Amino acid sequence: MPDQFFDYIYLTGLMVASGIRSVYGRRHKRTPIVARRKEPHLVWLFMILWGVSQIIPFFYVFSGWLEFADYGLPVWLKSIGAVIFIFGIWFIFRSHADLGRNWRPYMEIVEEHTLITGGVYQYIRHPMYAAHIFYSLGQGLLLGNWLAGWLALVCFIPVYYLRVPGEEKMLMEQFGDEYRSYKTRTGGILPRFSSRNES
Ligand code: SAH
Repeated sequence: MPDQFFDYIYLTGLMVASGIRSVYGRRHKRTPIVARRKEPHLVWLFMILWGVSQIIPFFYVFSGWLEFADYGLPVWLKSIGAVIFIFGIWFIFRSHADLGRNWRPYMEIVEEHTLITGGVYQYIRHPMYAAHIFYSLGQGLLLGNWLAGWLALVCFIPVYYLRVPGEEKMLMEQFGDEYRSYKTRTGGILPRFSSRNES
């Protein structure tokens, strides 16, 4: 199977994922916001770099500019990458659908915010971030280029670790015991298989 086949899986997935984000972004654009939490500056830096990591693959596929960073990966590994990548896109869709009008691109509480504990949120508290980690890992395995492939994952992992403590603190302040109990039942990005008593 030629490498280009995997490059085009990536480019198609990129468009599908952007489409999902834009549909839900537009749908909930006007939801009134009642509270906002400041994010560490580093989160912005890594999010911008993650955005850049979604543009670089076009240069990799359509120009020879990034040839210096090319390397070969076996087809079986790229195929695993394709599965992880497609699963990530499905999860981006599911988490947006389940979070509904409570979704914000920033750390915000909207009017009549409800704590979602169903759908994919019944297993993990951060399915949307997990989805982007899967997506970025899939990107790395699909594209045989260090820069076009791996920048996304290198940028998204710090976003997860820098964002989550503030987000969980905000939701704890908003929902109190409801969130505390939700936290004891669920994992962050991987499901919890045994429950614990305190968060
Ligand atoms: N961390 C979550 C959501 C990311 S979107 C995930 O990875 O799936 C960020 C917004 O989602 C924040 O503004 C926060 O207020 C909201 N949010 C996060 N978890 C939520 C939940 N379980 N129920 C309702 N809103 C939630």
